[in-house]
Amino acid sequence: EAGRELLSASDVSRTIARIAHQIIEKTALDAGEPGNPRVVLLGIPTRGTSLAARLTDKIEEFSGVRPALGSLDITLYRDDLRTRPHRPLERTSVPEGGIEDALVVLIDDVLFSGRTVRSALDGLRDLGRPRAVQLAVLIDRGHRELPIRADYVGKNVPTSRAEDISVLLTEHDGRDGVYLRQE
Ligand code: 5GP
Ligand code: MG
Repeated sequence: EAGRELLSASDVSRTIARIAHQIIEKTALDAGEPGNPRVVLLGIPTRGTSLAARLTDKIEEFSGVRPALGSLDITLYRDDLRTRPHRPLERTSVPEGGIEDALVVLIDDVLFSGRTVRSALDGLRDLGRPRAVQLAVLIDRGHRELPIRADYVGKNVPTSRAEDISVLLTEHDGRDGVYLRQE
């Protein structure tokens, strides 16, 4: 049982397209414009990686500039590694050219306590020194435990802790959609 629909498949597409436009606007990503920072999209596995890939395609489609694409596994940087059940390591892949002096946009599906993003920032520190780091998420469900916010939000969804957001993406689940479920 999927739960209450928050975003339909076409809502998901529209939302990704909107965030792509916002990233272009906020990063002034214009073809051939000198002085613009290199933009690097880094997806947080697993669904953040697919969202980052889709955003890369959209940004190229809308601006003519294809940002660099990579992924950042944060498993090793979590502050609850010892208390959480073992999870296999995901892929970290840094795009050619690295992240030095780049504008890095971290991409994840759901923002909750903010601990994953904090871990991602720790992970970035080992890869280089970006000019700036931004955050894009499909869903912000609240309940932050750290002073972290997203620069781009697909949809703000106030949730209770007992609820859970189910993010379906074609790459993983055969179709797109976002649902709110009671635990
Ligand atoms: P945080 O670290 O901010 O507490 O949680 C964010 C991370 O956990 C993200 O990588 C996200 O994928 C996952 N997450 C947290 N809450 C939810 C949720 O309600 N639904 C889904 N699909 N993922 C969540
Ligand atoms: Mg995740």
